[in-house]
Amino acid sequence: MAKKKVQLNYTGKDLEHYNALMEVYYKISNNMRIRAGEVLDRSSADKRGVTTHMADISSDNASHEIGLRQLSEDGDVLTLVEYALERLAHGTYGKCQDCGEMISEARLKVRPYAVFCIKCKTKREEMEY
Ligand SMILES: [Zn+2]
Repeated sequence: MAKKKVQLNYTGKDLEHYNALMEVYYKISNNMRIRAGEVLDRSSADKRGVTTHMADISSDNASHEIGLRQLSEDGDVLTLVEYALERLAHGTYGKCQDCGEMISEARLKVRPYAVFCIKCKTKREEMEY
């Protein structure tokens, strides 16, 4: 009960961060709902045998797959947003999880759910290659 209250008591920068996170959260869950509807529409169309030509079937399957993949990527962002909200509640929001430095406001504006500062993020990306 007390937990929910904390979120409403954000002020200043915290409130800005909270609003930015919620905006991303709503935008993505809305996109997911729309896309999930499209994916479902497409599979039921397949089942009804609406698609008859082979070419149509393969292009339908391809876009179906893209739809599903996009869906799971958005799911990851939602997890990051939830994680960021948790950090906001604990007062550790905006801190890089690698080096502990504060993530720049400019970066947080673009990615309010960022976990790493741009330096550590770049380092991680370089290490992947
Ligand atoms: Zn860092």
